[in-house]
Amino acid sequence: MATRNTVQRTVIEAELRALANHPTADEVYEAVHAKHPTISKATVYRTLGRLADEGEIARVRINNGADRFDHQTFAHYHVRCTRCGRVDDVMIPQMAGIEEAAAEASGYRVTGHALQFDGICPTCQACEAASA
Ligand SMILES: [Zn+2]
Ligand SMILES: [Zn+2]
Repeated sequence: MATRNTVQRTVIEAELRALANHPTADEVYEAVHAKHPTISKATVYRTLGRLADEGEIARVRINNGADRFDHQTFAHYHVRCTRCGRVDDVMIPQMAGIEEAAAEASGYRVTGHALQFDGICPTCQACEAASA
């Protein structure tokens, strides 16, 4: 039986997938709200958090920025444009041995790592070139 909660979950997850490129919780809320005005911001935030905790989606923590949400849950790296703030995937192989090296150096039992590249996206590079 589909409860109100599962309907909301399905809607929120579908909007996240449709937005595709690492939206913030606010961006997901705006997309959800446009079609389903009865779903509150609190519900969107809470549901995204729960989906991330359950591993259905990934929470991408951004240095100096709001968390992003990613429908792709396999391990991959991200790059953030320092001009416009967009976040894209960097599909390079995960660095082998980095977690073991970190464990060795820190004494921690390392359970994961995140790596964020910073740069200027192709669109912003084009703008720069046009205005130069
Ligand atoms: Zn940019
Ligand atoms: Zn991603």
